[in-house]
Amino acid sequence: MAESPAVKAAVEELVLANHILYDQTAVDGYGHISIRNPNNPNTFFLARSVAPSVVTVQDIIEFDMNGKALNGDTRTAYGERFIHSGILRNRPDINSVVHGHAAPLLPFGLTGTTLKPVYHMSAFLGEGAPIFEIRNFAKPSPDTDMFVKSADLGDALSKTMGLQYFVLMRGHGYAAGADSIKKVVFRSVYAIQNASIQSEAMKMGPVQYLTPGEATISQETIEGTIARPWQLWSERVKKP
Ligand code: MN
Repeated sequence: MAESPAVKAAVEELVLANHILYDQTAVDGYGHISIRNPNNPNTFFLARSVAPSVVTVQDIIEFDMNGKALNGDTRTAYGERFIHSGILRNRPDINSVVHGHAAPLLPFGLTGTTLKPVYHMSAFLGEGAPIFEIRNFAKPSPDTDMFVKSADLGDALSKTMGLQYFVLMRGHGYAAGADSIKKVVFRSVYAIQNASIQSEAMKMGPVQYLTPGEATISQETIEGTIARPWQLWSERVKKP
């Protein structure tokens, strides 16, 4: 793979992002990140089924927008690659998707409490993250293993996300999207921090969230600075 310089760079950044997401506890032994092929908007790259912290360039597989592995690759893929194919297929403005199970986010999906921006770092949450209820889409029974493991479920998740960049998955985790790898990692890390802060604040009393206007303005400012944490996070995971 990685013949073209653009693809090689994207795949290398994808590997680095896997390690950063683990180091920043946005994923653990489970979870994954994808990047759209910079040379072909109809395919994307995602690791084979291994833990994010151990992903190497050799583990990266190219998929089509139905979640089918290309280039004759028969290695075991993530069962939930349809989260990525569903969002990337339906959202041409999103080029990179993260999925994980970070614990601070879970109570929101469980209670139907809206995850909303409590500070400028997570302003992209806007007026609040939608919650994906897999029971509404599961066939033939609402009881499932909770996995988004078909193109139909990936589609349903993407529709629930709508035009936003973050979706909670009840009893499961989250999916985040952005136009770049750096930005989707940034959003994942700070959505999780937002969840912890919001949970603490709600115990104290009524919470002042960012207004939609504050969210729009501060998102633009803060997302212009993401090279700074990216440099820090990269240095933390560099191999000696
Ligand atoms: Mn999952």
